[in-house]
Amino acid sequence: MSRTLPVNKNDYIDVVFKDLTHDGAGVAKVDGYPLFVAGGLPGEQAKVKVIKVNKSYGIGRLIEIQEKSPYRVDIPSNERTKYGGCQLEHISYEGQLKYKENQVRQVLTRIGKLEDVIVHPIIGMDNPWNYRNKAQVPVGVKDGRLIAGFFKPRSHEIVDTDESLIQLPEVNQAVQVVKEICNELEIPAYNEESHKGILRHIMARYGKQTGELMVVLITRTTDLPHRKELVDKVIERLPKVKSIVHNVNSKRTNVILGEKTTVLWGNEVIYDFIGDVKFAISALSFYQVNPVQTKVLYEKALEYANLTGDESVIDAYCGIGTISLFLAQKAKKVFGVEVVPEAIEDARRNAELNGMTNVEFAVGEAEVVIPRWYKEGNAADVLVVDPPRKGCDETLLKTITDMKPKKVVYVSCNPATLARDLRILEDGGYKTLEVQPVDMFPHTTHVECVAQLILKPD
Ligand code: SAH
Repeated sequence: MSRTLPVNKNDYIDVVFKDLTHDGAGVAKVDGYPLFVAGGLPGEQAKVKVIKVNKSYGIGRLIEIQEKSPYRVDIPSNERTKYGGCQLEHISYEGQLKYKENQVRQVLTRIGKLEDVIVHPIIGMDNPWNYRNKAQVPVGVKDGRLIAGFFKPRSHEIVDTDESLIQLPEVNQAVQVVKEICNELEIPAYNEESHKGILRHIMARYGKQTGELMVVLITRTTDLPHRKELVDKVIERLPKVKSIVHNVNSKRTNVILGEKTTVLWGNEVIYDFIGDVKFAISALSFYQVNPVQTKVLYEKALEYANLTGDESVIDAYCGIGTISLFLAQKAKKVFGVEVVPEAIEDARRNAELNGMTNVEFAVGEAEVVIPRWYKEGNAADVLVVDPPRKGCDETLLKTITDMKPKKVVYVSCNPATLARDLRILEDGGYKTLEVQPVDMFPHTTHVECVAQLILKPD
């Protein structure tokens, strides 16, 4: 016999939200049974409709807010499109920062069982708008016109958008102008269902420090109609453009970029700086999207590494070498490891671009390459990790606790896996001294952290 649940599907009930989930939904408890409701904020009292019941939790829809949170902001409906992709759009920036900081504190205690670690107040942005240096916008058709914008949540319907409040104005302008030009030239939009049509996505990237713009047209077909006119018009109307690239993705897939890229005009890359380090960014390169906060994050990582110039440093999950090159400014030698070969090519090119000779990069899984280095007798004094959301592989954590670098700096985009991994490192002889949350993605649920660990004396 299954236990009877305190709510039934289609019930209308009054609740008080106590918390937010990691993806920003309100959490209310009905006799201990959690109900998740998108849009609900802690402290608010509301009427909700139960739309789904599972054994251990239910989902509700917000019907009416009876008592509002002081952190709630109301967005006029004609402004909605400007907020595409912002899950926390209904929370003031002050409220968002508070929520993210709390989330970090909570998981470090609950999952990491870390009681006496210093968690600093989150570093937010002075101006949390217009920060993204990149847009990849899906293209569709509405009323015979080519439209481009964002997908409605949980749907494949495209909402036409001319301005996104979280993108840099240069990026917004580039997308808008390219959309206009493609309409003038009557370039057919791609249709996901029939897998016909041509233009799938418009992508724009902007080097905030250099003022260089890249435009990428992603098509299903190798043929791009009116290519010459298109290029001429883009150059004329977007004077900052330094690179126009054509990428072909002929597959039925949600992945945006295909493998084949040709330069239609200008350079293959644009350049940008983070601090004093220069980066070449190609259409396919990974590059952090918030340049202002990236600098804050990397400076914190560098501060936590506390380098004197004598250290040998390993940067695991190094991507295009951004953190490695930052560290190389202060270290004797830096070894970067990354699984994507193209990223390592970028990393090597970037090292050369900056005249840095004290960095070496290797392609491979961190949990394979670093144990091998260790076996060969190459141990690091300082180890930096910046893994994807799932956190570090256990083999890597084990190698760290065997290798015993004096310091570990953990850069994380997922507080839950950070907390889990810090616990493993603590049990293996490390002490977490400080954690600094940084808001890299205002108005979204993402939160980034840097943690500093030291090897405990025996
Ligand atoms: N430190 C970089 C990139 C961090 S993103 C920066 O700040 O720009 C995480 C990176 O880890 C990605 O580039 C991803 O390709 C890489 N990665 C994922 N799994 C990996 C593994 N097992 N070993 C090494 N790198 C991995």
